[in-house]
Amino acid sequence: MPVDDFSLSANSITGESTLVYQDVARQVQKTKGIRIINFGIGQPDFPTFARIREAAKKSLDEGFTGYTSAYGIDELRQKIAEHLSSKYESVRKEEVIVTPGAKTALYLAFLLYINPGDEVIIFDPSFYSYAEVVKMLGGVPVYVKMKFNESTGFSLNLSELESKINKKTKMIVLNNPHNPTGMVFDPIEIEKLMEITKEKKVLLLSDEIYDYFIYEGKMKSVLEDPDWRDYVIYVNGFSKTFSMTGWRLGYVVAKEKVIKKMAEIAANIYTCPTSFAQKGALAAFESFDEVKEMISLFKKRRDIMYEELKKIKGIQVHKSQGAFYMFPFIGEILKKANLTVKDFSLKLIEEKGVTTIPGEVFPLEVGKDFVRLSFAVREDDIREGIKRMKEFIDMLMTP
Ligand code: PMP
Repeated sequence: MPVDDFSLSANSITGESTLVYQDVARQVQKTKGIRIINFGIGQPDFPTFARIREAAKKSLDEGFTGYTSAYGIDELRQKIAEHLSSKYESVRKEEVIVTPGAKTALYLAFLLYINPGDEVIIFDPSFYSYAEVVKMLGGVPVYVKMKFNESTGFSLNLSELESKINKKTKMIVLNNPHNPTGMVFDPIEIEKLMEITKEKKVLLLSDEIYDYFIYEGKMKSVLEDPDWRDYVIYVNGFSKTFSMTGWRLGYVVAKEKVIKKMAEIAANIYTCPTSFAQKGALAAFESFDEVKEMISLFKKRRDIMYEELKKIKGIQVHKSQGAFYMFPFIGEILKKANLTVKDFSLKLIEEKGVTTIPGEVFPLEVGKDFVRLSFAVREDDIREGIKRMKEFIDMLMTP
């Protein structure tokens, strides 16, 4: 058999990864010598907090290097349960599984429920990997287009969502705060979504990985519902809040029976999350002062990026309230310059050394008029990058 005769699952992956744009940037830096300003990044721009690093090192030195339980270590499951119970409705240790990153948590959630032909409702725009995994499992992503308004941002468009629920619908995927738009959705909208989900008897997969990145307003978690066990699969992780992307640690909260099933699958796929990384994560729960400091720094950066973007003619931008992304509308500019958003991002790297992610990566239609910029970048680089972007757009607009 030819080695490139891949399975249907493997061939179902069609989306373009954000990494492509980082590769182009590296090439531009090498050949043109332009210093790259990277707004394409999806992680905090500094090392994991010292306390966490020390705890992991200590556990390594003490020889904590073997397999752990497929559920993750007991102390960490307990800490996660206590932490969530202090903020929301009560969660028990048995209702938590620790996974190698939030992506694996999401993968387990989809794997547990999706049969070929099952429909999964995904908002457009959304984090690209939801739709890819659904397709990989033979499921069908059904997109609900969010509505954009410069002053209020994106709304979930629940009337369209309701009309798309049918007998084949298994699950709705929610991400709040939201990548790529930076929205923290209105708590009333989230409550309505939860009601619809319960009424229609579908599952709600809620990815709340940016829950600490909130600059204004209040976020409604699905775990605030005392009935969450009946319909919620909750995903979170350590990557963003504690700047631990490379540690690969996430978790799922769901009814105990669901978690047991996930552990059976985990035992056959990856055995367990990394042992000493889990010990490090225990110390994350003593690091909320550092998290607070990071969030106030990010808030300042967000304000600068917003003010600078607003100065560019033709751009419409809503000030994001969460995550670390700004998602400006550049539809008018693209139309005038006769460019696709992908060409816009590529040319911006090539001409000015500024990396952005074209909105259509997330994952379909709506993003075609938007670009994603991360403000997990130094203040002076935010100013310099937006200045270069303005020069580029001025150049495009000059006949
Ligand atoms: N969900 C969302 C919305 C994300 O933005 C990301 C990371 N970009 C993830 C999940 C994956 O997180 P992890 O690194 O823990 O796998």
